[in-house]
Amino acid sequence: MIRSLLIANRGEIAVRIVRAARELGIRSVAVYSEPDRLAPHVLEADAAYRLGPASSSQSYLSVERLLGVARAAGVEAVHPGYGFLAERAHFAAAVRDAGLVFVGPTPETIQAMGDKTEARRRMRDAGVPIVPGLVDPVADADAALAAAEEIGYPVLLKAAAGGGGKGMRVVVEPEELPRSFDAARREALAAFGDGSVYLERYLDRPRHVEIQILGDTQGHVVHLGERECSIQRRHQKLVEECPSPALTPELRAAMGQAAARAGEAVGYVGAGTVEFLYQDGAFFFLEMNTRIQVEHPVTELVTGLDLVAWQLRIASGEALSFTQEDVTLKGHAIECRITSEDPYRGFLPSTGTVTHLQVPSGPGVRWDGGIQAGFEVSLHYDPLLAKLIVYAPTRGAAIARMARALDELVVRGVDTSAPFHRRVMDEPDFRQGALSIRYVEEHPDLLNGGGDEEVLRAAAVAAALLEDEDRQRHRTPRITASQGPGSTTPSAWRRGGRPWTDA
Ligand code: ADP
Repeated sequence: MIRSLLIANRGEIAVRIVRAARELGIRSVAVYSEPDRLAPHVLEADAAYRLGPASSSQSYLSVERLLGVARAAGVEAVHPGYGFLAERAHFAAAVRDAGLVFVGPTPETIQAMGDKTEARRRMRDAGVPIVPGLVDPVADADAALAAAEEIGYPVLLKAAAGGGGKGMRVVVEPEELPRSFDAARREALAAFGDGSVYLERYLDRPRHVEIQILGDTQGHVVHLGERECSIQRRHQKLVEECPSPALTPELRAAMGQAAARAGEAVGYVGAGTVEFLYQDGAFFFLEMNTRIQVEHPVTELVTGLDLVAWQLRIASGEALSFTQEDVTLKGHAIECRITSEDPYRGFLPSTGTVTHLQVPSGPGVRWDGGIQAGFEVSLHYDPLLAKLIVYAPTRGAAIARMARALDELVVRGVDTSAPFHRRVMDEPDFRQGALSIRYVEEHPDLLNGGGDEEVLRAAAVAAALLEDEDRQRHRTPRITASQGPGSTTPSAWRRGGRPWTDA
């Protein structure tokens, strides 16, 4: 087993990796930028080294500085987490060249899967269904027009080097194509230093369903069920769950087998995710992510497997100790991404000091966080503060549990996405599992409302005081939640919830 590990990341995922390392008896070494010097991942690791100032290019993205720390700390391996350098083949290669173990697949696999056209070619050749469209970039707008004619509108222009939803353009009719082509090219060039663009069919209302895989260095690949990640905004996931309410056992097996085939086709080592779009009973390969994903905990809760621990075991050369038949899904898990964004202002990033933090707990609740009271939220990094994950025997019970946990959560000092999540838990389509990637766009009410929280809080306090005064005077409640027979709820005032009567 690896004995020491550098964690080339920050925030909740760095904390998550420290925890797995500690349980396996691995010494963990954290790195930090100046503003992160007292962040939880720094405090919880066995050692921590400063990388540089706030800017990512001089800290978490600096290969040179990271390798310098690896040398100074004498570690044996490097875990990249997700984001930052996790899917940069040159980083994996530099780690390997420095004589260290990279926790993840080979640089060759990362490189191949990072190019969407090459990934599509490889998957097609391995017999994995891909979204209909091209497997090579198009040279110019005329070639794009000709291809679109064949694929059929609407089409989606995509950057071959794409990621994070950048360089994507939906084109509904031929007239728009030349302009969108230029825009996608420009955006791709700016974001990835590579302007290659290709086309695929734009599916109307698909779900995003992805399959977790694990591969070991002995050549075994297993799939660990799916995650439903359809609730997205601007192609960024907001809520994830396992299992997907859409899949039958037959579909799950078919998608799982396709994902395992995809992994085998590229000699996959470590934890990876094969993303699919699913619509009308058919599924299509979207891309393969060669890293641990933000939403991995829902799979962990439903399979009972610790994915980060398995990443470290596999990197140590251990073979998977179980086969496909041993993998079973039990119960239901949901994750909400708690970000420093205000859902009522178009998910505008919010900054400031976290003045108070109350973390939900109790049965079936997991908090994977990267913040604490006193933590300064800045615009330097990703807005993900923490993940709230729940587990229960059924989907309905998991939804109720998530609603309860969100009611317990208090984050003061910065706005968070939590009020959006709380509304989703009550929304009828979500409750029925009627989802597609257009869910948020089709439910604009989830983003309206809010109001100034301070004013609301003051109003609630005033109302509670008034009621208390009233009760003292009359010894009976004046505000009632229900006029129906059998109502015993004394008041409509609740801290973050509905009265428990159904009226
Ligand atoms: P990125 O690598 O930039 O994240 P992906 O290829 O993973 O891009 O796609 C991100 C999201 O964009 C998907 O989850 C889905 O919501 C949407 N999307 C991608 N391809 C299509 C398509 N062909 N039709 C409809 N929606 C798509």
